[in-house]
Amino acid sequence: MRAKNKYTMPVLQSLLQRIDRTSSPAHVGNLRNAVDFIVPNNTVVLAAAEGVVTYVKDDSNVGGPDPSYWNYTNFISIMHQNGEYTRYDHLKRNSAKVRTGQHVQAGQEIANVGMTGYTYIPHLHFQVFVFTGYNIWTDFDTIEINDFI
Ligand SMILES: [Zn+2]
Repeated sequence: MRAKNKYTMPVLQSLLQRIDRTSSPAHVGNLRNAVDFIVPNNTVVLAAAEGVVTYVKDDSNVGGPDPSYWNYTNFISIMHQNGEYTRYDHLKRNSAKVRTGQHVQAGQEIANVGMTGYTYIPHLHFQVFVFTGYNIWTDFDTIEINDFI
């Protein structure tokens, strides 16, 4: 399935080193369409479209190159039109600039990149997803996004 909405880049182009869709061993199964934006640590993260913030976690200061760090990622989820959501992972502790229920615009600063969760190098893990059930941890599927506006 492909994304219906148009999304802007969640980091400034000038700070982007590269986009990597396939190197991460975590990008399998329902994360197969996730996109990693390789950027310097502390890079500002931008909402990729207008929407409403549905989840904010930024209390972790733990991360590293091992799957045992998986649950220590800080992340934000935003709900958009057409039932699509975006999620932004590996955020810096206490960097969230938005709260749950807040309405955000495309390009609005929402947090900074950190090294929390399962991560080898500073980067933003980004995914567009839809829910396939009611469990927010398991019942979702990432959808394809090939271009950013
Ligand atoms: Zn990733």
